[in-house]
Amino acid sequence: MTATTHDPTGAPVPFPARIEVDLAAIAANVGVLRERAGAAGVMAVVKADAYGHGLVPSAQAALAGGASWLGVAQLPEAIALRAAGVTAPVLAWLHAPGAGFEQAIRADIDLGLSAPWMLEEVAAAARRAGRTARVHLKVDTGLGRNGAYLFATGAAASDWSTLVERARQLEAEDAVRVAGLFSHLACADVPEHPTVRAQQEAFREAVSVAERAGLRPEVRHLSNSAATLTAPEAAWDLVRPGLAVYGLSPAPEVGSSADFGLVPAMTAIASASVIKRVRAGQGVSYGHTYTTARETTLVDVPVGYGDGVPRHASGVAEVLVAGERRPIAGRVCMDQFVVDVGDLPVAAGDDIILFGPGSRGEPTAQDWAEAVGTINYEIVTRFGPRIPREYVAARAGGQETR
Ligand SMILES: *Cc1c(COP(=O)(O)O)cnc(C)c1O
Repeated sequence: MTATTHDPTGAPVPFPARIEVDLAAIAANVGVLRERAGAAGVMAVVKADAYGHGLVPSAQAALAGGASWLGVAQLPEAIALRAAGVTAPVLAWLHAPGAGFEQAIRADIDLGLSAPWMLEEVAAAARRAGRTARVHLKVDTGLGRNGAYLFATGAAASDWSTLVERARQLEAEDAVRVAGLFSHLACADVPEHPTVRAQQEAFREAVSVAERAGLRPEVRHLSNSAATLTAPEAAWDLVRPGLAVYGLSPAPEVGSSADFGLVPAMTAIASASVIKRVRAGQGVSYGHTYTTARETTLVDVPVGYGDGVPRHASGVAEVLVAGERRPIAGRVCMDQFVVDVGDLPVAAGDDIILFGPGSRGEPTAQDWAEAVGTINYEIVTRFGPRIPREYVAARAGGQETR
């Protein structure tokens, strides 16, 4: 995944685009988050191929920057970290029946659990493995997504109380050890939203329900990127930032990357392919949604929605070409899009920068998100495995050291 393809002799097969990932930025961003987290540790969230940045190199950079834990959604992501030799504590929190719990237990992966069926499957897997499973119980304090519901509905005990009681019984049998308690915030990107405070209070209540039942977790964790940066009182023992690790602002209404001291780690670059001079009135790309206003130069850029360029970027997102920003002309296709560069001097093979940290005048992932009508999370994460990642160790004054 996200690697250069090699031919049978081992030679790399060039691809006409690259995702440069600045690993020094990832490490430095974790440093910023550590400072914000105070006494709490940092669990760097590296799910979804590290938000498109590449799972293993990004995880290693986050650990080098001072993260003490890694978090992923899916078990295969956690196992991939172990297979790559990563020994740091890893938590995986999204499961369906039949998940590879026994494989996870044997690989020393902590399991985030939200429902009684998960506890039963994990306990059974632990017995088969002859080991005790380390679990973190997840409480829904108001997100309304996964997590065991904290609040009573009708006369029965809450889902959270039921989960906690059963976990305590399974601890007594040495099938599980409740190493953590956690929850997730719904609106931390809007710091004054009333749910931010309400969920913190609910989490406090959930922790005391668990501790009264006899659970003694090592770590209690609630904060995502936005809360780590804007609600330090919510930090508990660990914070779980994802997006901010990659240098993007989780709360663009509150502050930009730079305002938070973060540096975007991803730069998406493609090589100009076919360049041609065309007449006024030339329709461009499928459907001819763009027509040239005068004689002009069109540049064909060999990446498209098959690579993660949103089709909604058609006509709206800009790229940096010959030092200038120009919008995508007409529709983004599966493998390519076109830019009308007027009279700018562009040659085949020139770098076309889709987005990056902005240090060379290129748009940012945030600019693309605003143009396309989505969030910066989706822009970076959707850049898929077809484009190879290149890992850049340091960037100074626009010069890269590979
Ligand atoms: C994705 C995720 C995070 C990280 O969220 P960011 O907004 O990217 O910081 C933290 N915790 C859980 C449970 C998540 O699913």
